[in-house]
Amino acid sequence: MEEIKIFSPATVANVACGFDVLGFCLDSVGDEMVIRKTPKKGIFITHIEGFNLPYEAEKNVAGVSALAMYNAIDVDFGFEIEIYKCIKPGSGIGSSAASAVGSVFCMNEILGRPFNKTQLTEFAIKGEALASKCEHADNLAPALFGGFTLVKSVAPLNILKIPSPDDLFASIIHPQIEIKTADARAVLPKEVSLTDAITQWSNLGSLVHGLHTSNYDVIKDSLHDVIVEPHRSNLIPHYQSVKSEVLMAGALGACISGSGPSIFALSKSIETAKSVADAMNKVYTATEYNFDIHISKINTEGIKIIEQH
Ligand code: ADP
Repeated sequence: MEEIKIFSPATVANVACGFDVLGFCLDSVGDEMVIRKTPKKGIFITHIEGFNLPYEAEKNVAGVSALAMYNAIDVDFGFEIEIYKCIKPGSGIGSSAASAVGSVFCMNEILGRPFNKTQLTEFAIKGEALASKCEHADNLAPALFGGFTLVKSVAPLNILKIPSPDDLFASIIHPQIEIKTADARAVLPKEVSLTDAITQWSNLGSLVHGLHTSNYDVIKDSLHDVIVEPHRSNLIPHYQSVKSEVLMAGALGACISGSGPSIFALSKSIETAKSVADAMNKVYTATEYNFDIHISKINTEGIKIIEQH
């Protein structure tokens, strides 16, 4: 294989009670990337469309993860990377993760799959660290493995794929405001009370159970975050209105996507997900903020190959 074109999906990390460990993969939102072999040794970003991002491999997450893999192999050729970016950087739906996994997934396909998905995640973590200044995999894992994933541990990397019901859909609103990662981190509590910790891990355990057993009532009952949301939601304008309106529109639950500013809701059925998206739209239309809305089924496959030759 000389060249491959892929769809690299957006992802939602944290999923209310699963701060830093849980994530899920979207189907209708993502970037496209083309990677091809080139006779010249090295990693070269040759084209970027959609958003202004650095072309130097060392400054672009796609390049950094590609270099991490490139340094682990011994080949007499290089790779060119084209990025067609649709996921706005900093939107909170895994923009950097999509690039980080995209390059290593493609290289692995071209090389005849010497690495498994966990090893690909290890390389992608190096890219993700460029954007977020720390090594985490809660957006990378769902993009590579698809569906819901739980990052059991980062060192050693252990990713568990969790099944999910067929009729689960996500609605996402991305208010066009910037939340600095430093601010999103600064508001996090340094310590949590035992009462809150118990509530959080009981919700996470029951959410995983609800996903396994396709029990929507249990999923609904579990989508709560008593540790991070109370602090971070203050950074997102009209957060409480969005949340109460989407719950009235029938969502199973809603919370901050990643570190924000996007807000996600999960619903049973596409019809409810559309009503939930309408409710999000209504709240933000009445404000001065621009916004995007996405509706997506859960993408159980993860990254998809569009073309290869
Ligand atoms: P998100 O919140 O959507 O996951 P991040 O905050 O993780 O997005 O990443 C965005 C940051 O990473 C921006 O500062 C952006 O300039 C930088 N970056 C570098 N390369 C890329 C890339 N290929 N795709 C997206 N962001 C990138």
